Amino acid sequence: MPKYCPTCGNSSASVAFFGNFCEDCTKKKLASSLPASVELKRCKRCGNIKAVGAFAQPDARSLVSAIGQQLGGGYLIKFIGMDESAGRARLSISEDTPNGTVTVEHEIALEYKGVLCEVCYKKASNYHEAVVQLRGDSARGQRMLEKLNTYVERRNGFITKVEDADNGVNVYVSSKKLASAFMFAMKLKPVVSFTLAGVKKGRRVYKNTYALHFGE
Ligand SMILES: [Zn+2]
Ligand SMILES: [Zn+2]
Repeated sequence: MPKYCPTCGNSSASVAFFGNFCEDCTKKKLASSLPASVELKRCKRCGNIKAVGAFAQPDARSLVSAIGQQLGGGYLIKFIGMDESAGRARLSISEDTPNGTVTVEHEIALEYKGVLCEVCYKKASNYHEAVVQLRGDSARGQRMLEKLNTYVERRNGFITKVEDADNGVNVYVSSKKLASAFMFAMKLKPVVSFTLAGVKKGRRVYKNTYALHFGE
């Protein structure tokens, strides 16, 4: 005895069924339960979007993570493609049901909410934990500044600003751990000093200064 789909009347003799309903209607039901749009948090400065855990460059992986968070659990989402200027993405969305896995292609509108990511917020507020003073030969100082910048950015830190000083520059670095690790990696021997920057949760917070002098 073939089954007949109560929604559209299709027969199980001609199409696949998921439980009591035909494949078509099962897919339509999943598709209609999915939202037509999602709102993603996007940094106004760097354009990174908020994925699970952190802000990341907008690519297939971070989009799937951000959209997945909006849809709630229970779906397996794959990225098919997107039209950035139109703000639309096409996804393959699968849901496990007691009668098997149902997969649909779904187009979703991406709406963006402008925010500041943690890094841009810190940059905007001049956040820094360490100052590297580069003094003396300016060509050597410049090369060291470039190495420091690469080192710090590769490790998710940043240079807040570089300011001119007597006989060189002061480089403001987001993390003292990274500034210190850089000195160690480059086998540099800076003169290190500490200044009290304030008290945070009852503990004194120090700003580290690393002074380097390059001979001519
Ligand atoms: Zn049907
Ligand atoms: Zn940002």
